[in-house]
Amino acid sequence: AKTAGPGTVRFFEVSDDKSARDRRALQRDLEKAVGRDELFLVYQPFFDIRENRVTGFEALLRWQHPVRGVISPAEFIPIAEETGLIHPIGEWVVRRACSTLSNWPSDLRVAVNFSAAQFHNTSILQTIVQALAQARVAPSRLEIEITESMLISKYGPASSILNSLLELGVTVALDDFGTGFSSLTYLLKLPYTRIKIDQSFIRDMLTRPDSAAVVKSIIGLAQDLHIGVVAEGVETTEQLECLRQTSCDEVQGYLIGRPVSADRIFALLDQNRQW
Ligand code: C2E
Ligand code: CA
Ligand code: CA
Ligand code: CA
Repeated sequence: AKTAGPGTVRFFEVSDDKSARDRRALQRDLEKAVGRDELFLVYQPFFDIRENRVTGFEALLRWQHPVRGVISPAEFIPIAEETGLIHPIGEWVVRRACSTLSNWPSDLRVAVNFSAAQFHNTSILQTIVQALAQARVAPSRLEIEITESMLISKYGPASSILNSLLELGVTVALDDFGTGFSSLTYLLKLPYTRIKIDQSFIRDMLTRPDSAAVVKSIIGLAQDLHIGVVAEGVETTEQLECLRQTSCDEVQGYLIGRPVSADRIFALLDQNRQW
């Protein structure tokens, strides 16, 4: 508002609030974060209920901000998506996840979260192929997690890249299942490997009959479609026991393990804890 008149200055005072300023500052910092090596991944286990073993880990992004400490992806992923920074960040995530995966036992997979926008930059396919080759890991050990909302976003289903990935042997999981729209329509459009029941349903399933019904029907649907099903956000043994009575395949959540840094994964596997 340098050269603006008094009226304009007032306008800026009203609209240029603290949160907008914070956001722009965060955006500038995020532009430098990749180059400064401030991003890191933490890994949260998947646990197979019947086999009683850890089957892999989901990579979750964190940002070690030099001043503000660790920032959650819920805060900076939206900024990355708006600014296009999601492309270099997403490519970094894939490379790092694959190189970490190369150190794990070969019966474990890594799951990586993707934003809709990432499927509209064809270089992502090349990046994934290269990352897998460089790390020498089988494509079937990499899973891409996408949300149903991204399939109906302005970007559209982007199924050509997804189809190429599926042809390569990469697996695809539908994340936060049950929270979006058109779930069933989109479920049938691609050969998903797995669906992940949104944690909101798991949180409420012992207290709300409607949530219990949703959990039960998603598990039944997965079974009928012959695809895997993961319950997210399992925090209590009561929830786990309830899921054991169903044909849910895998669980994830604080009960099994919070996300940990890559160097703590072997200790976690060695514990071989049973629930
Ligand atoms: P999401 O993919 O649905 O991941 C699950 C979130 O729930 C994670 O939060 C995880 O830490 C948290 N969580 C896991 N178990 C429990 C539990 O038992 N109880 C509760 N209350 N929460 C649990 P996080 O790590 O903060 O990630 C938030 C979201 O950010 C993710 O949701 C995902 O959509 C997005 N995200 C994370 N990493 C990436 C990434 O590399 N790329 C993209 N595009 N998005 C990412
Ligand atoms: Ca996820
Ligand atoms: Ca989820
Ligand atoms: Ca989510």
